[in-house]
Amino acid sequence: MKVISAKHLNEIHQIVQSGRVLTDESDRYSYSFDGSFGTFLPDVVIQTKSVQELAELIKLANREGIPVYPRGQATSLSGGPLPVHGGMVFDLSVMDDVLEIDEEDLVAVVSPGVLTASIHKAAEEKGLMYPPDPSSSHVSTIGGNLAENSGGPRGLKYGVTKDYVIGLEVITPEGDIIQTGGKTVKNVTGYDLTKLIVGSEGTLGIITKAILRLIPKPPATASLMAEFINLVDAGRAISKILSSGILPSKMELMDRASIIAVENYQPMGLPVDAEAILLLELDGHPLALKDEIVKAEQLCMSVGANKVKIPKNNNEKEEIWKARKLVSPAIVRIKPTKISEDATVPRSRIPDMCERLQQIKEKYQIHLVVFGHAGDGNLHPNIICDKNDEDEMARVEKAVTEIFTAAIELGGTLSGEHGIGTMKAPFMEMELGKAGLDMMKRIKEAWDPNHIMNPGKIFPEPGQKLELK
Ligand SMILES: Cc1cc2nc3c(=O)[nH]c(=O)nc-3n(C[C@H](O)[C@H](O)[C@H](O)COP(=O)(O)OP(=O)(O)OC[C@H]3O[C@@H](n4cnc5c(N)ncnc54)[C@H](O)[C@@H]3O)c2cc1C
Repeated sequence: MKVISAKHLNEIHQIVQSGRVLTDESDRYSYSFDGSFGTFLPDVVIQTKSVQELAELIKLANREGIPVYPRGQATSLSGGPLPVHGGMVFDLSVMDDVLEIDEEDLVAVVSPGVLTASIHKAAEEKGLMYPPDPSSSHVSTIGGNLAENSGGPRGLKYGVTKDYVIGLEVITPEGDIIQTGGKTVKNVTGYDLTKLIVGSEGTLGIITKAILRLIPKPPATASLMAEFINLVDAGRAISKILSSGILPSKMELMDRASIIAVENYQPMGLPVDAEAILLLELDGHPLALKDEIVKAEQLCMSVGANKVKIPKNNNEKEEIWKARKLVSPAIVRIKPTKISEDATVPRSRIPDMCERLQQIKEKYQIHLVVFGHAGDGNLHPNIICDKNDEDEMARVEKAVTEIFTAAIELGGTLSGEHGIGTMKAPFMEMELGKAGLDMMKRIKEAWDPNHIMNPGKIFPEPGQKLELK
């Protein structure tokens, strides 16, 4: 159902002087999906670099009750930018002109459409590092990362996006432009609105600028790949290493299904008979790394690793990390539909979660591939299926519910980094309880009294369930 009338469209054209207003069906179709599934056509798409124009559009939307959806590069795996109730999509990927590295204050000032990998590169050129590194960093925007509070392999040692944001410029759902925080490392002036906006999935406002904290780049890295004949042993190796005093910068797990998928996709000599491989990266002073990598090898062997490989040069190092990067493109070749979950458990419960996932896989006879940032408990159980196969999808829905239930029972959470979006909204009460969810709704109500900002996300809506078609 169209929510934008000819009169609205006329007003939109008057406001947008420096950008583009897209109304052709073919253009709008390009904005109807993201990295999850489900297709929802917006009424209109706006591309503008002008914060003032965006603010005026939001005032119009707020006055007329038109839904608006901020969107970066639409790599969201939870349905975050989908225009589920029609209305206006703001393509913020075009807002990419500011990327300043301030070496004295150790911060980066960025526009929301800048790709995260560009921030990594700009910081590294000055001997600095912006640690959050979602695996999608070459294709996702910093605005999307901020809205989703994205993590990544380095989250284990360095934390996630929220740990590096100290200031924001935000357009509120009523069209005001506000600044939160600033360039100072310390700031306790009132409520921390910066942290409230980060991770709010575009439901509380539109981020139009961010100030990010940078740190000195570690001088060296070392990597290791350990093979296991048992997935649960790999889980035990993770706990063992983390309780030994070694804090890897990355600790990634690939199960047998993902190893085989990568080998079929791009043969690189991975051990297809192993049940799991564990990939480790350590960073710091080269002398300390020499000791730590040997210790990590011994710890893996002590819990049943079959074989440990320590790359001798950068090429070998890149090769083992390439394997992990290829998992996502490799598994989508198996079947057309990929359901990416990121239920997360406390580190000590990783072996239990591995066991529960194996049970769920067998119980529902689903194609479950497990990989991910295992060091911080953030496994990525991915279900590979075909959304046109009704029988399979019925089993998949039950399996997804059981994955969430297992994570919560083990003291974990529905989502470690991909966000709630539309996909996990029906399960929110399971984790938060009614009172917890109500408190969140009250915050939303205070910021967005007319419910125009990215509706249909985070909060369950009547009749909403895991929509697989
Ligand atoms: C192959 C692959 C690997 C991935 N790996 C990781 C990973 O390792 N870690 C991880 O955390 N995620 C990962 N993701 C998920 C995804 O890349 C992240 O959520 C990313 O931050 C989304 O950025 P985007 O620019 O694509 O935003 P979009 O998908 O366009 O939007 C995401 C959300 O942010 C909101 N939004 C976007 N821009 C703004 C803005 N300026 N102001 C307010 N709200 C805004 C949208 O409304 C939406 O709710 C991966 C995805 C893929 C496809």
